[in-house]
Amino acid sequence: MSAKGELNPTARFLMGPGPSDVHPRVLKAMATPLIGHLDPQFITIMDGVMEMLRQLFRTQNDVTFAVSATGSAGMETCFVNLLEPGDEALVCVNGVFGNRMCDNVERCGAKVVRVDAPWGQIIEPAQVKQALQGCIPRLVAIVHAETSTGVLQPLEEISEITHKAGALLLVDTVTSLGGTDVRVDDWGIDVVYSGTQKCISAPPGLSPVSFGPRAVEVMDQRKTKVQSWYLDLSMVRKYWAGAKRAYHHTAPISMVYALYEALRLIFEEGLEARFERHLRNHELLRDGLEEMGFEFLVAPEYRLPMLNAVKVPAGVDEAAVRRQLLDQFNIEIGGGLGDFAGKLWRIGLMGCSSTQNHVNMLLGALRRILKR
Ligand SMILES: *Cc1c(COP(=O)(O)O)cnc(C)c1O
Repeated sequence: MSAKGELNPTARFLMGPGPSDVHPRVLKAMATPLIGHLDPQFITIMDGVMEMLRQLFRTQNDVTFAVSATGSAGMETCFVNLLEPGDEALVCVNGVFGNRMCDNVERCGAKVVRVDAPWGQIIEPAQVKQALQGCIPRLVAIVHAETSTGVLQPLEEISEITHKAGALLLVDTVTSLGGTDVRVDDWGIDVVYSGTQKCISAPPGLSPVSFGPRAVEVMDQRKTKVQSWYLDLSMVRKYWAGAKRAYHHTAPISMVYALYEALRLIFEEGLEARFERHLRNHELLRDGLEEMGFEFLVAPEYRLPMLNAVKVPAGVDEAAVRRQLLDQFNIEIGGGLGDFAGKLWRIGLMGCSSTQNHVNMLLGALRRILKR
């Protein structure tokens, strides 16, 4: 058999729910020659990643590093390390990722107590408060930026309620981290995970996580072994942050390079400036879409700047429009999931994809396709 053709995908503008566009400096970093994963120079690079992640999460947590797999593995790392068979976990569900959390809890042999809100709306603190009267969960899990609906979830009040009930707060920040403020220590978040391919604008492949002192205590007091060998933090921690770095698995060196460079870009821009940019480009897109007669799914005060959930007008074939955007304009946007399949577009303005040019290009393309 002869070799297949060279890899040569068309350059696209990534404006869906992730991955987002990646800066050329990050791609270049990935082509940096490999060194060993226990090479002292690589360990210095890992230390740099951990330090920058602490600044991004705004935390002092020692146990802050990147799991060697995508955001879903970060989610699983949090649940498998904190839950033991027979535990209870309260999970807030207002979209796809809350449901995925419930599945994780069940696979740990723990009992799920669900708090549901309609998709497109926030979880109200009063709902959590009421649910906590009927259970004693080890943790309360909630999504900060629900990518399936475009909702930004306020966390502070729920954090207070959770701690009063003696539970840990576990938060999904896969889509929010790097695009809007995430204050792990100020908001009392005990456990948090994220991903690299959304507002951090690196390729998919790593999942930044952070565990606070209360969470570490719970892990240290486990009676049973973590059921996942690969994600067992009692071992992974020694590789990332132990006094003597011990082999656990071979870190994906090139992805660590990518994350290192992406984090450098974030701090060169500055967090406040970056959040401001995400907001400004969201507003530009919103104004343009509203001028064309489109409506957003989410109430203005809870809209995500990096993920715009827009209702598809009656009579428009949403999949056909997305296909035209891709084929004629090289723009990728996302469709709706679950109940919103066929009814929603999800337009991502994440990281390097959050620019005025991206917004204007998409608005121009939609005008052409829809003749508005
Ligand atoms: C994308 C996403 C995930 C899953 O991350 P993967 O990298 O696709 O595994 C989890 N939670 C939220 C909110 C997401 O947007």
